[in-house]
Amino acid sequence: MQFATPHPTIVHDPYLEIDCKQFKIIGRTISGVETLIAIPQWSLAFDTGRAPDFAFSMNTVALSHWHLDHSGGLASILGLRCLHTHPPLQIIVPYEKFDESESFLSHLKSISQTEIQYILKTADTPVHIKNDFFIRALPSFHCTPATGYLVSHHKHRLKNEFQGRTEAEIIKAKRQGLSVEEKVVEPLLAYSGDSKWEFFETEAVKARHLIMECSFFSDKSDYEKVRRFGHTHILDWQDHAEKIESETVIMIHTSLRYNREDIETACRKYLPKTLLDRLIILR
Ligand SMILES: [Zn+2]
Repeated sequence: MQFATPHPTIVHDPYLEIDCKQFKIIGRTISGVETLIAIPQWSLAFDTGRAPDFAFSMNTVALSHWHLDHSGGLASILGLRCLHTHPPLQIIVPYEKFDESESFLSHLKSISQTEIQYILKTADTPVHIKNDFFIRALPSFHCTPATGYLVSHHKHRLKNEFQGRTEAEIIKAKRQGLSVEEKVVEPLLAYSGDSKWEFFETEAVKARHLIMECSFFSDKSDYEKVRRFGHTHILDWQDHAEKIESETVIMIHTSLRYNREDIETACRKYLPKTLLDRLIILR
């Protein structure tokens, strides 16, 4: 008897990790190959990529669109959750694709003769993910119906007029029927999925952390293709850099046609230092 030996599969990039202090990101995003970003603290995955082992335990999957480098792992995740008797997967899809998604999942369940469980939603209004965190859709601009996402922290704090008051005063105010707290929504993390530069014109740029695609880095000769396929060029980043208020900017979805050196050279050539100081490239 013997065990099989490992095959030296070519791996373009390992899964990578970024520490954003309040949460960590684990993921891999390569244009046309695989895009998945998981945030274990929120039990959330943006897209599924090829469904690496850590992905199936996320209770919410927010699909930006159905291109298979973003969504191809969904069936595998559903199967593994079924095997491990996890609760139904909350799947969020673009509004325009809700009916087709429902039909696809129903056929998947029937053809696989499994008891895969899911709750299908759109996020036009905020959807609860975990604790005080909610996700909702943002406009995205791709060559197929797509959506970006914004994760916000919904918290309560004392109204200004009650700041600095003693506990006894606040209890007294509550007993008098006064409302002493107000709801605050903090936009924490925005995700573009695949999108043209118009995503820079959404409220995503005000989120504390921004995950934004940049698929092309060469000169502008292929710019018509960039627009047609619904992507963003490094020159678009140059044009819109001043709009980005986020304290961390994570660049994703770089193409395999560029190596790390090409990407670094283009970023240093076209982006202002104020952005480079906040930029992390997920590659
Ligand atoms: Zn796509």
